[in-house]
Amino acid sequence: MRISDVLRGKGDLVVTIGPEEDVRTLLDRLAENRIGAIVVAGEDGGIAGIVSERDVVRGMQREGAALLDRQVGSIMTADVHTCAPEASIEDLMVEMTEHRFRHVPVVADGRMCGIVSIGDVVKYRIEELQSERDHLTAYITG
Ligand code: AMP
Repeated sequence: MRISDVLRGKGDLVVTIGPEEDVRTLLDRLAENRIGAIVVAGEDGGIAGIVSERDVVRGMQREGAALLDRQVGSIMTADVHTCAPEASIEDLMVEMTEHRFRHVPVVADGRMCGIVSIGDVVKYRIEELQSERDHLTAYITG
């Protein structure tokens, strides 16, 4: 199964935020959209970074409530790991585990065309394993 199969099921919506917006706005957007990470959009419409709830937790531990007025650009990760729609779900699971992140934007022809989370990947992997099990059961008992 490919990442494009995941996007066909969940759609291509990617919630973004500007690097100059504050952390308070970031929290609103995470809560409103019920998500754990947001892509930070650059002026050119490209990816300037990614910021997740984990960055907010670390920042709050460091500087307390003062973090809420800080710009998103100051806590984001600028070196963003992306994948292509042709990437396999298994390979992405390995990368997410090795690098310890749970969100990966999908990029095709230099344009962002979706985002996958560890939850999406696990959901599709479970479906894949169930289908394999059903085929094997049918083969053995059929
Ligand atoms: P997450 O597990 O996705 O909540 O993120 C954990 C940490 O990795 C945070 O510091 C994020 O900013 C960072 N991060 C999340 N996704 C990516 C990604 N695709 N590429 C690089 N860093 C990321």
